[in-house]
Amino acid sequence: MRLSQYFLPTLKEDPKEAEIASHRLMLRAGMIQQNGAGVYTWLPMGLRVLRKIEAIVRRNQDAAGAQECLMPTIQSADLWKESGRYDAYGKEMLRITDRHDREMLYGPTNEEVITDIFRSHIKSYKDLPKNLYHIQWKFRDEIRPRFGVMRGREFLMKDNYSFDLTKEDAEYSYKKMFLAYLKTFRDLGLRVIPMKADTGPIGGDLSHEFILLAETGESEVFVDAKWNEVDLAGKDIHYNNKPQLEAYFDELTNIYAATDEIHNPETAPKDIIQTRGIEVGHIFYFGTKYSEAMNATVQNKDGKTVPVEMGSYGIGVSRLVGAIIEASHDEAGIKWPSEIAPFDVGIINLKVGDEQTSKLCEDVYTKISATGLDVLYDDRDTSAGAKFANMDLIGAPWQIIVGPKGVKMGMVEMKQRMTGEKFDVKISSLIETITTKLSDLKKGY
Ligand code: ATP
Ligand code: MG
Repeated sequence: MRLSQYFLPTLKEDPKEAEIASHRLMLRAGMIQQNGAGVYTWLPMGLRVLRKIEAIVRRNQDAAGAQECLMPTIQSADLWKESGRYDAYGKEMLRITDRHDREMLYGPTNEEVITDIFRSHIKSYKDLPKNLYHIQWKFRDEIRPRFGVMRGREFLMKDNYSFDLTKEDAEYSYKKMFLAYLKTFRDLGLRVIPMKADTGPIGGDLSHEFILLAETGESEVFVDAKWNEVDLAGKDIHYNNKPQLEAYFDELTNIYAATDEIHNPETAPKDIIQTRGIEVGHIFYFGTKYSEAMNATVQNKDGKTVPVEMGSYGIGVSRLVGAIIEASHDEAGIKWPSEIAPFDVGIINLKVGDEQTSKLCEDVYTKISATGLDVLYDDRDTSAGAKFANMDLIGAPWQIIVGPKGVKMGMVEMKQRMTGEKFDVKISSLIETITTKLSDLKKGY
């Protein structure tokens, strides 16, 4: 992408309304535009990041055996009356009436819709287990939307729903998702800690929140110092190896980690760290809460009709964009982890009027793009200082800086945004250097 042609409305000044770094930087880097309280347009560069996160979430859902579908954003109130949540959900639900005076709503979550889909088609234990997910916009009329996409009213969530015959099977599905979440956050370049949680209005017995530690997070959390040493990547754990998966689940869930809602100083270990965090995911096992209320039953082996055992699992895809920036930025701007950077490489042309410099930039731009990497080429006729500041703000993991002096000597400069490290590279080995550096980074987890 040539910056001269790209729609990237960056801001020089800090926007007044932004209280935290990620919100400020997303506005300054031209990633989003606010349309109303808690409602945003994703501008081209913001959307690139959102899509990359979505792809990592999707890949890990598929690997864990979940199947993608897409449910509508608009739901019928009748289903929510069946489950008993229509009144209970209160003012957070955006209620809509259509031209026939039918009560509708903009979905804040999808337990009711998926339970309805399930009961229409599945009648026998032979068709279990099933696990369905979608990545769809939700609306919750939050009392205090703030921090940009972190607490929006309209936001993108991956949610999935597991269906099993027995409690034991349902717990296994839960543990698979627990592992899938750890692998997802690992692939996003984040260290996210699973914490025992309250089940809240969703109800149920077993629940974990996945929390990214960050000073600006809304949740107050208490974690055992041991978490610093734990393998959170679930590297060699396989979904189909039940004993291995259960041992790993037990190992992790036995290390203390709790939000303030359920923190208990009496049971907490001595070496405890009190800090703050951002909830990026939340999983629930709630048994037959919805299947009983909505009559979603199957025949078991003995021909008896039993309500299906369910769990639900959410990841805040749009919240993650902000959360990742909270975890990875400096005064100058965003430092994207390479896995989800909107551009892998930024090229800065220090002298647009210089024929040789521009020719080299074009050549490098074409060749790197041809390797499949995403490249942003700053070909604008502006000052070097403005270009440096802009590229640091946008936060591409690698910068290639091309100026007339270097070109004469057959050299360009490379800068790694994450570390600030700079070094000179021979033009003849540039492509090779950049492709190995990037594959090293992507192997980093
Ligand atoms: P919170 O406690 O932050 O209000 P929640 O517990 O109500 O979230 P869940 O119902 O567990 O949210 O939704 C699953 C995930 O969706 C959350 O873990 C979070 O990452 C994301 N999420 C929830 N509400 C919002 C929101 N208003 N804006 C952006 N993301 C959200
Ligand atoms: Mg939650």
